[in-house]
Amino acid sequence: MTVKKIQSSRTSAEKMFYNDCMGVLEIRKYPEKILKQKTTPVQTIDGITQRLIDDMIETMQAVHGVGLAANQVGIPQKLCIIDLSLREDKAPLIVLINPWIVERDGSVEAEEGCLSIPGYLTSIKRAEKVFVKGVNREGKNIAIEAEGLLARAIQHELDHLEGLLLIDRMSPIKREFFKRRYKKQLNEAK
Ligand SMILES: [Zn+2]
Repeated sequence: MTVKKIQSSRTSAEKMFYNDCMGVLEIRKYPEKILKQKTTPVQTIDGITQRLIDDMIETMQAVHGVGLAANQVGIPQKLCIIDLSLREDKAPLIVLINPWIVERDGSVEAEEGCLSIPGYLTSIKRAEKVFVKGVNREGKNIAIEAEGLLARAIQHELDHLEGLLLIDRMSPIKREFFKRRYKKQLNEAK
C-alpha cells in the first residue's frame, strides 16, 4: 500500500476502496446503479487521484479497452482515460479530468461497444468532431480538437461521466429489445 494517508475529505466508500484495492480494478457492469450516477468534479489532484489514474490505466489495458471512466470502476468522479494506441499508431494516452465539450460538429454513425456491457456492439450516432476542454493529471488546462475514433471515444467516456450508457442513446424499441436479450444472457450465465 503506497498511499497510507487518506484525506478526511474523502468519502468512506473511497477510503474503503483505497484500502482494499490495488492494480487491476473490477469493472462495473450494466445494470449496476453506479453507472447511471452522474459523477462529481474532481476537487484536488492528489496522490489518491494519481493512484486511481494508474489503476484505471492498468485495468483498461488488461482488457484491451480504448477508454474507461472512473464510475466504471466504482468511483463517481469526473475523470476518464482514453487510449487508442491499440487501434492507431502513436496515439497518446489521454487523461481527462473535469472535461466538457465546448463544441460539436457534424454527425456520423458507427458501431460501438462498452466494457460495462461486454459482448455487445451497437450502432450509435455521434458528433463527427468535438472540441473538448479539461484538466490533465498534472493539473494543467488542456483542449483537444478531435475527430474520427478519438471524437467517438471522448463522447462515449463523457457520456459515462453523465451517467449515460450506450443503451441510453438507442431508440426506445432497440433499448427494450436489448434489455430483454441482455437479461436472458445474464440468466443463462448463472
Ligand atoms: Zn463504456
